[in-house]
Amino acid sequence: MANKDFQPGIEQAKALDKADVLHKFRERFFPLADNKIYMDGNSLGLASKDAEQALLQVMEVWKNEGILIWNVENGHYFNYGKNLGNRVGRLINAEENEVMITANTTLNIHQVIATFWKPTKERYKILVDDLNFPTDRYAVDSQIALKGMKVEEVLKVVESADGVFIDEDAVIEAMTPDVAIILLPSVLYRSAQLLDMERLTKEAHKRGIYIGFDLCHSIGAVAHDFEVIQPDFAIWCNYKYLSAGPGSTAGIYVNKKHFNKTVGLAGWFGNKDETQFQLNHEFEQAADITAFQTGTPNIFSMAPLEGVLNIYEKAGMKHIRAKSLNLTAYMMYLIDSHLKVYGYTYNNETEDHKRGGHVALVHDEAYRICLALKHHNIIPDYREPNVIRLAPIALYNSYEEVYTLIEVLEVIGQGQQWNNFSNERAIVV
Ligand SMILES: *Cc1c(COP(=O)(O)O)cnc(C)c1O
Repeated sequence: MANKDFQPGIEQAKALDKADVLHKFRERFFPLADNKIYMDGNSLGLASKDAEQALLQVMEVWKNEGILIWNVENGHYFNYGKNLGNRVGRLINAEENEVMITANTTLNIHQVIATFWKPTKERYKILVDDLNFPTDRYAVDSQIALKGMKVEEVLKVVESADGVFIDEDAVIEAMTPDVAIILLPSVLYRSAQLLDMERLTKEAHKRGIYIGFDLCHSIGAVAHDFEVIQPDFAIWCNYKYLSAGPGSTAGIYVNKKHFNKTVGLAGWFGNKDETQFQLNHEFEQAADITAFQTGTPNIFSMAPLEGVLNIYEKAGMKHIRAKSLNLTAYMMYLIDSHLKVYGYTYNNETEDHKRGGHVALVHDEAYRICLALKHHNIIPDYREPNVIRLAPIALYNSYEEVYTLIEVLEVIGQGQQWNNFSNERAIVV
């Protein structure tokens, strides 16, 4: 556990909020109806005034300019994916023009596998883990099928020993000479385990293997340093910790040393700017991350990102990460001191350098406890079979909210209030 000197009463929560350098950013986000306490920013970040403003601004430009929207501000919207990509890229210390905002996470996985995976007789396997989010597997499996190959012959799966964590040594051991490419999550979506991306990348490169990461559960929460890590590629969504709105356009990073590769999925927005509008039938691939864009940018699904980035840039990823770690450490402390007797535990890494942005609360009655929490005006996030993900977001959650959450969980435990709810599952639980 973190080396923080926590105390049991609410006074400390109040004092921590008072001393918090990020507390002022809370008012830039909209409070939920009925002032619900939101602990689900790891699934869908909250709306901000900055995001709303940016979206309305684009609407104004479209209203006033029509087709000329593509020309205003020196082609700002024409180059929106790259302009926003450069700003998101700075959050992970990528170089200029290595990040594009485009498509969705799943399609970007298709893009990187189609680009990087060129199987040969000797080196053809794709290495993954068995705890990654399902869509990552679906995309990889269908890329294998597209080549007329068999998943069971090509896919190599590192299995977690306990179904909770991935052993990095086991991943490294699986980096055999027949492996061509590795796709792993940066942070596991259930247990919040943060993998040592630098070490894994070094080991993969030593063996001539490409490696890339899915940052869905770390972008906007963890201050990655890509200048140090140097992965080959990465992909992520912007609607979780980065709060860019439901279904907002996703991110793709490709290390600049690979800009000479032929892009797997080509489209006219991946063509060189100079010849794109000559509309030739021969694709002339752009010389940077632009190549990885396919069609016209989804401006309305990107505008909220432009707005909310102002907040992330002002706050700074170092401060965001520091507060996020302290919030989850505080939450774990309170679970230990207040909730153990009611059958609650947590199943996530406790060391700071191994933990992402949420706490994985575990209870046999997890599903019905989520319903009880909603009844008490708190929004958690359920994951089968027994995990409640609780993500206090540095920019808009307070220590006092964490304290209140624990108090409510205590009340639910004392009264066994889960008995008031049905175990039947809704579509989005
Ligand atoms: C949320 C998430 C996704 C989502 O993919 P979309 O294509 O944006 O729907 C993919 N992978 C991981 C690991 C995720 O956490």
